[in-house]
Amino acid sequence: MESNNRVIRSSFLPFSPPFIGEAEIEEVVAALRSGWISRGPRTAQFEEAFAGYLQAPTALGLNSCTAGLHLALMALGVGEGDEVIVPTMTFAASGNVVEHVGARPVLVDVEPDTLNIDPTAVEAAITRHTSAIMVVHYGGHPAELDALTDVAKRHGLAVIEDAAHALPASYREQPVGRSSRLTAFSFYATKNLTTGEGGILTGDPELVDRARVLSLHGMNGDAWKRYSYKGSWYYEIVAPGYKYNMTDVQAALGLKQLERLETMQDRRRKVVQLYAEGLGDLDQIRLPTVRSHVVSAWHLYPIRVLPWGSAMNRGHFIEQLATRNIGTSVHFIPLHLHPFYRDKYGYRPDDFPVAQGAYETLVSLPLHPGLSDPDVEDVIEAVRDVCSMK
Ligand SMILES: *Cc1c(COP(=O)(O)O)cnc(C)c1O
Repeated sequence: MESNNRVIRSSFLPFSPPFIGEAEIEEVVAALRSGWISRGPRTAQFEEAFAGYLQAPTALGLNSCTAGLHLALMALGVGEGDEVIVPTMTFAASGNVVEHVGARPVLVDVEPDTLNIDPTAVEAAITRHTSAIMVVHYGGHPAELDALTDVAKRHGLAVIEDAAHALPASYREQPVGRSSRLTAFSFYATKNLTTGEGGILTGDPELVDRARVLSLHGMNGDAWKRYSYKGSWYYEIVAPGYKYNMTDVQAALGLKQLERLETMQDRRRKVVQLYAEGLGDLDQIRLPTVRSHVVSAWHLYPIRVLPWGSAMNRGHFIEQLATRNIGTSVHFIPLHLHPFYRDKYGYRPDDFPVAQGAYETLVSLPLHPGLSDPDVEDVIEAVRDVCSMK
């Protein structure tokens, strides 16, 4: 295959590097100098700031979103013999945590435009063992929460939101994470807000309190309170808990990232606008769309490569962009294709035709606040160049 005008950027454009400023670095240094580097005052401050930002009932700082999803299931009492409905188009963590509590993840297909969990497929998958629905806001575009909570209410099911991509996003003017549903956010290095590794759980205060105890060994009362002048040496273990707490070094990063979140989102939206203007006329690819009643967090920019010519397909498209120094990724390899889920539950590729069809064409273009206008122009030129190949 030949292109007309091969455009090559001089250095590799990484898919999603973290966006850390001097304020974050100074706050981390201040945390290190403070003498309190584990869970302490900065974590409490970050929890309060985060809950305040979303106007969420409460927030629990954790070492990952995965920990938040695991604790959400534990707090709801989901376990052995239960089924949890999970979209197949997600990251492994959303399904793995269901296995961790001894329940069965029941995979379902997604909606063709947003690739979010399909409420109709959820309803069809409900059995007398179903106890919860795991909702993933794919790419930052909120799932159909009205339809999903309606199904959940009618069948007496809990809804857990995997909002790893959805900060900040809103559904019918309501920010994701503001409701009483348990919602877990990720602060992993590539996410819209990063603490290196980290996560937070928001939702009903009673359930989040249960998760709080489980997040630190099952201790009632945390170490910061124990060792401060008001505290005492005494504690009780009320459950065999986990070691899932956030640290003050992570919270230091989080506090400063949260202050910049709106500015970082402005840049994401601008990049999305530039992509739409620069790529919208191409027949070889389809750009992501947003439903009119939501605000997307634009964590990802997933395009579909519609196969053309004799050899152009998704895999080749990615290779061609890489030779033009453009980093990309694929979100996601659906859960039903991974050996663990495929072999344990006997899933076949065509069990979920929408997710399968999408997967074969998906490519995520770089989308992060560190992209300059020339970076975005390089991506657009490279994509246009590859699309001009015969
Ligand atoms: C990143 C991610 C997670 C896991 O987040 P961690 O903070 O790394 O545990 C879970 N679900 C989805 C959809 C993700 O993209």
